[in-house]
Amino acid sequence: MSLNETRAETPGRTGNVISSWRIAPQTGIAFPLRRGQIVRVTDPEGEQVADFMAFRDGSDGKEWLSSGRSIDYANTIYLTAGHTLYSNDSNPMLKLLRDDVGRHDFLLTPCSPETFQIIYGEQNYHPSCYENLWRSFAPHGIAPHQIPTTLNIFMNVAVDAATGMLTIGPPLSKPGDCLEMQAEMDLIVGVTACSAEMSNNYRFKPIEVTVLEYSSLPLSLPEE
Ligand SMILES: [Zn+2]
Repeated sequence: MSLNETRAETPGRTGNVISSWRIAPQTGIAFPLRRGQIVRVTDPEGEQVADFMAFRDGSDGKEWLSSGRSIDYANTIYLTAGHTLYSNDSNPMLKLLRDDVGRHDFLLTPCSPETFQIIYGEQNYHPSCYENLWRSFAPHGIAPHQIPTTLNIFMNVAVDAATGMLTIGPPLSKPGDCLEMQAEMDLIVGVTACSAEMSNNYRFKPIEVTVLEYSSLPLSLPEE
């Protein structure tokens, strides 16, 4: 569904909307993102996680967004505005421009059918980010087993420094909060509205995605 938005503003910048989607609860999408374009992921209702993955366009899935490389070079597990996300080949893929929330997870894999069997004891079918991502990436020539650890936008994972134990809390995102990233290369990007009960405070909500191109004009200057 189109959001019918034609202009977008963020502090210090104004831009044109190239395309936008509202991802229904427990579903996902994939789309091309050209070098220089910005992808904005917005949580319209608050407390909703969006799993995010990117592959270099034309690489047949062989160059992918790497949690390990990105955490290594940033020297923190909590990536935020100013950090760069790297590929498995150590090339810059995305730059984080704007982060309204400041807490995302890059340690855990996308929720999968096995997640719900092993952690939740679910015996029946359960929608998952893994399935929603591989189905969305399939038309772009990317196979399910090529999907690695995702950037889990708005996912609130706390780490006990002494024991390493993880605690998954409700996302800190409030209605309308967003994360903006600029592509450093041509990409195929996948985004979901996460399907895991615990990660989303036990209520499944939509996610909004917008592709933008910013002009370099600051907002204080008159429009052209
Ligand atoms: Zn999920």
